[in-house]
Amino acid sequence: MNRPLLDVRDLSIRFGGLVAVADVNLKLNASEIVCIIGPNGAGKSTLFNLISGIYRPTQGSVTLDGQEITGWPAHRIAAAGIARTFQSSRLFNDLTLLDNVLIGMHTRTSAGVLQALLLPGKARAELEAAAERAGELIRSVSPHLYPRRHTLAGALPQADRRRLEIARALASEPKVIMLDEPSSGMDDRDTDALVADVRRVMSERPGMSFLIIEHDMRLVATLPNRVAVIDYGRKIADGDFSEVRLMPRVQEAYLGQ
Ligand code: ADP
Ligand code: MG
Repeated sequence: MNRPLLDVRDLSIRFGGLVAVADVNLKLNASEIVCIIGPNGAGKSTLFNLISGIYRPTQGSVTLDGQEITGWPAHRIAAAGIARTFQSSRLFNDLTLLDNVLIGMHTRTSAGVLQALLLPGKARAELEAAAERAGELIRSVSPHLYPRRHTLAGALPQADRRRLEIARALASEPKVIMLDEPSSGMDDRDTDALVADVRRVMSERPGMSFLIIEHDMRLVATLPNRVAVIDYGRKIADGDFSEVRLMPRVQEAYLGQ
C-alpha cells in the first residue's frame, strides 16, 4: 500500500480562546518535499511544534511511518525520526561547528557514553568516529563550511548558521526533516544555493522527506513537490504551486494581510 510517511489528521490546538491550528490534515510521502506557506501568525510554526511534540494537540493525530506518535514527548519523537530546525536560530555560539552537529547525534551516541566509563579507549574511538561523521555531514550540507568545522558557531554569518542547523538536524538520521523558514536572513544567491543543497541532501538519502515553512516565493516556486497553504490555523489549499497560487482564497489570504 502507498502509506504516507507522515500522516497528520484533524490536528488542532487551542490557546485560551485562540484556535492556532484547526483541523489540519496533511500527508507527506517518502522522498517528497512539501512547502507550507501562509501569512504571519497563521499557525505554521505551531503546526511544527505539534508534530515535533513541543505542544500536545487538543485534537487529532500524527502518524509516522505507520506508528501513531500523538502526544509523545519531543525527545521520543526525535528518536522516532522527526528532526527540525527553528524559526529563530538555536545554535550554541560558543561551541564549534563540529560540536554543534555532535549534539544533534546525541540520541545515537548515548549508548557509547555508558561504555566510555568502562572502556575509555573504545569510547574515544567512538567519539572520533562520531566527529568524523559530523564533519562529513557538514561537508555534505555545505562543502565550504567543512574547513571551518573547528571554529565557533557564533562567528558564522546568518546563511551559514542556517546551513549548520540543517546539518545538525540531519545528524539524527531522520525520516522527516522540518525546516522553519530556512531562507530567512539569506539573499537570493544563498536561497538558490539552499535549493541545491536540499536537493543534494535528498538525493543522498533515499526515502527521507522535507516539510519546509517558507515565505520566499522563488524557493516555493522551484523546490517543493507540493505546497500547502495555512490561513488562520486552517489548511486552505494543497497542491502544485502553479495551481495553488491562482486560487482566490490563497490570493485573499495574502492580500488581506
Ligand atoms: P506562524 O508561524 O504561521 O507565523 P505561529 O504558529 O507562530 O504562526 O502562531 C500562530 C498563532 O498562535 C499566533 O496568533 C500566535 O500568537 C499563537 N501562539 C503560538 N504559540 C502560542 C502559545 N504558546 N501561547 C499562546 N499563543 C500562541
Ligand atoms: Mg512561524
